[in-house]
Amino acid sequence: MSKIQMKTPLVEIDGDEMTRVLWPIIKEKLLAPFVELKTEYYDLGIKKRDETDDQVTLDAANAIKKYGVGVKNATITPNQERAKEYSLKKQWKSPNGTIRAMLDGTVFRKPILVNNIKPAVKSWKKPIVVGRHAYGDVYKNAEIKTLVPGKAEIVFTDAQGRQTRETIMELPGPGIIQGIHNTNASISSFARSCFEYCLDQKIDCWFATKDTISKQYDQTFKLIFEDIFKNEYQQPFEKIGISFFYSLIDDVVAKMMKTEGGMLWACKNYDGDVMSDLVASAFGSLAMMSSVLVSPHGYYEYEAAHGTVQRHYYKHLKGEKTSTNSVALIFAWTGALRKRGELDALPQLCAFSDKVEKTIIEMIEEGYMTGDLAAICNPPAKRVLDSMQFIDTLAQRLEKIV
Ligand code: NAP
Ligand code: MG
Repeated sequence: MSKIQMKTPLVEIDGDEMTRVLWPIIKEKLLAPFVELKTEYYDLGIKKRDETDDQVTLDAANAIKKYGVGVKNATITPNQERAKEYSLKKQWKSPNGTIRAMLDGTVFRKPILVNNIKPAVKSWKKPIVVGRHAYGDVYKNAEIKTLVPGKAEIVFTDAQGRQTRETIMELPGPGIIQGIHNTNASISSFARSCFEYCLDQKIDCWFATKDTISKQYDQTFKLIFEDIFKNEYQQPFEKIGISFFYSLIDDVVAKMMKTEGGMLWACKNYDGDVMSDLVASAFGSLAMMSSVLVSPHGYYEYEAAHGTVQRHYYKHLKGEKTSTNSVALIFAWTGALRKRGELDALPQLCAFSDKVEKTIIEMIEEGYMTGDLAAICNPPAKRVLDSMQFIDTLAQRLEKIV
C-alpha cells in the first residue's frame, strides 16, 4: 500500500511530560504507517524553551504564520515550583499565551462525543463548542482596595491630555474598585475568528453579553459583532444555511440547558473561562476535549485541551503503567492533517483523518477505553486499557481499514 503524500509541511510543536511520552508513539503507530508525514518540528519542551530564552516559541508561532497550520502538544507553563524542578533561568510565559497573541487568535474547545458517555444535561446530543475571547476584561484589570470612605472615579486621558471622568461611586466606607478594558481591534478579531469557525464547521453562532446593564462596555461587543456579521458574514452564512443569534447572557445560559447543542457559543473572556469548564465537565472528560486556535488571518493551531498530565508522568517515570487517554491528542493531529488536506486539495488526507476519528469513537463505543472513561461510561467498559494498549489496539484496527 502506498502512503498518502503531503504537500505543505505541518508545523509540529512538541511539549512536556506524559503528553511528550505519547506524542512520538501516536506518530509512529497511528500516522506514519499511512501518511508520509511532512512536518517542521519545534521543540517547546521546557528545557528547550529555557535554553533558547523562549525564542523557540516565537519561531514556532512564526512557522504557523508561514505555513498556516500547526499541531501543538501540551506544554508546562512554569510557576515557581516548576522553575525549581527544571532549574529554569526564569518563569517563562505561557507558550499558549505567546502563540495566541502572535496569531491574534481565539481558542475553540469542542467535546468529542461517544454514545456510552451521556452528557450531564439530558437534552445535549451534539457538541457545544465554546469560543473564548482570551483578551482583556478582568484578566488585565487594575484594582484598589480601600479601608476608608472616598470617591471612586474612572478617568481616561487621551493623547492630547484631554480627560474624561466618570464617578463610579461615593464610597461610604471601606470597599473595592476595579478597572477593566478591551479594544475594538481585539473584539473585532474575536468576532471574525468566531464567524470563520462557524463557516468552517457549518454551525450556528450564539453570542451573549449583558448589554442592558453595561451600556458602553458590553454594548460595544454586541455592536461590533452585529456590524461585522452584517457587513461580512451574513451572505456566506445564509448561503450554507447557518445563523447568528444574539441575546443576553442569562437568557443564553438558560436556553443552552434546553437545546440539543451543535452550535458555537462565543463567550466574553470571563464567561468563556467559566463556561468552558462547565461544558467540558458536563460532557464527561477533559481528555475528550479538542481545541483549536483560529486566527482571523486564516491560521490554525490544533491541540488537546488538557495539560501535560503531570501525575501520570511521575507514575510513568517510576516505571508504573498509566491509563492516559490519548484521544484529544490524536484528534489534534487529525484536525491539523484534515485542515492541511483541505488547504492543499488532498482529499485522501481528509478521508484518513475522518477514518481515524471514526475508528476511535467506534472502539470506545464497543467498550475499549482508558481508565478515565471507564469510570464514567455506561454500559461498563469491556476492557480498561493502559496508555500503550489503547494506542496499540487502535493501530490494529486502523491497519484493517485504512
Ligand atoms: P492536566 O494535565 O490537564 O491534568 C489534570 C488531571 O486531569 C490529571 O491529573 C488527570 O486526572 C486528568 N487528565 C487530564 N488529561 C488526561 C488524559 N489525557 N487522560 C487521563 N486523564 C487526564 O492539568 P494539570 O495537571 O493541572 O497541569 C499539568 C501541566 O500542564 C501544568 O504544568 C500546566 O502548566 C500544563 N497545562 C498545559 C496546557 C496546554 O499546553 N494546553 C493546558 C493546561 C495545563 P487524574 O490524575 O485524576 O488521573
Ligand atoms: Mg477556567
